[in-house]
Order: sequence, then structure tokens, then C-alpha cells
Amino acid sequence: MRVDLSEKNLQSLSTQRVLVIGMGGLGCAAVWDMVRLGVKQLVLVDFDRVERSNLSRQWLYQEQHLGQYKVLVAQEQLQQHQTDLHIVALTERMNGDLLDRWLPRIDVVLDCSDNFPTRFMLNRACVRWQKPLVSGAAIQFNGQVACFLPYLPESPCYHCLYPDEAFTQTETETCTVSGVLTPLPSVIGSIQAIETVKILLKIGQPLSAKLLLFDALNSRWKTLRLPKDPACVVCGG
Ligand SMILES: [Zn+2]
Repeated sequence: MRVDLSEKNLQSLSTQRVLVIGMGGLGCAAVWDMVRLGVKQLVLVDFDRVERSNLSRQWLYQEQHLGQYKVLVAQEQLQQHQTDLHIVALTERMNGDLLDRWLPRIDVVLDCSDNFPTRFMLNRACVRWQKPLVSGAAIQFNGQVACFLPYLPESPCYHCLYPDEAFTQTETETCTVSGVLTPLPSVIGSIQAIETVKILLKIGQPLSAKLLLFDALNSRWKTLRLPKDPACVVCGG
């Protein structure tokens, strides 16, 4: 399929709104690429402030921003790059009220968070509001991306992938101490941006019902089929 990537054809991106949860390494890469592709309306959510340890892989932030809210710095940096952006920066922890307030007005949601409780809550809200969710994760040398499109009957949700929430709670602690290869969140965030734009433009085949895995240490890409769990407590019958 030949796709026209001319500016005129990408025009529709400017009227669609994308919600990004988490403005760490994944979020920085994803929003930067989406803006360069033509997305102009963004809602950014993160209550974290810039710390010195963030600077190597969260490159929207510099030393002068230490202690400032990430979303406010990101908003300023992006608008300096391009003045016609409409960015809402929310410095609060993601919560049910925030999602119910914003999701009806959102076209695609990006999960760029770094913890499972946030991912599960976001997934539930996206299923409830029938919004596409582009999920990314990076830890140590491994990255993954999946798109969950709840309006498609065969599409699984994030909970189908990780049905045991109790297990993943203990995994969360491991993630925090394990670290991540510096360029990896940028790679994964960029793929999230590409998937988002494909969904917004309705082109190609998004990573729906599939899980893309990148093993940087062994230079391997793998795509796994991700079936819907008919017994899923979030999206199942
Ligand atoms: Zn499910």
C-alpha cells in the first residue's frame, strides 16, 4: 500500500488530540516525534519534577530545569520549537477523575508511564471510553510496544497481556532498581509515535493484537501474537 506522506495528507493530524501519560524517556521521544510528524494538540500528564538522573535519556530537560515540573518544561520546549502547538500540561498524578474528564475529548492515548498500577488504571479507562491505547515499556535492554484498540471486537487489552495484577506489583520494584539502557526509551517512544500517527491517519496495520519486542542486547526484534482473553475481567464478554 502506497501512503501519501505529503504535508497536505498529514494535515488531519493537526486537529486530533493525543493524551500522553508520563513524560520520562518514552514520553520525551514520543511527543517530539509526534510534533515533528504534525500532531499539534497534546495533553501531557506527569507530576514528577526534573532530577539530575533524568538528564541523560529525557532530553527535553536540561540542567537549568532541575526541580521544575517535567510537563511544564516539555510544554515550553516544544512551543519554542513550534509556536502553533496547543499543549495542556497537567502536573497532577493520573487519576480516575482526570481520565473521565479528558478521555471523551482524546483521539489516542499513549502509556509512557513506568509503573503497573498506572498502566492498569489507564487500560481500564481506555476500555471504558473505547479509546486506542499505545503502550510502551523499556527496562534494562528490553523494550516493548503494543496497541490496544477496544473498538475492535478481536482486540485484547493490557489486562489480557498481564492478567495477574498482584504479580506485576512485585515486578514494579524490580523495574525501579534495574535501570534502562539510555537510548532504549527513545527507540520505543519513537515507535509509539509512529503507531499513534498510523492510528490517527487510519493507515497501515497498527500493532493491534500483537506485541513488538526489542532485545537490544542480542539485536533481536520479535512480534508475538497477543490474543484476547475471553475471560478478561476488563474487556472480556
Ligand atoms: Zn482484556
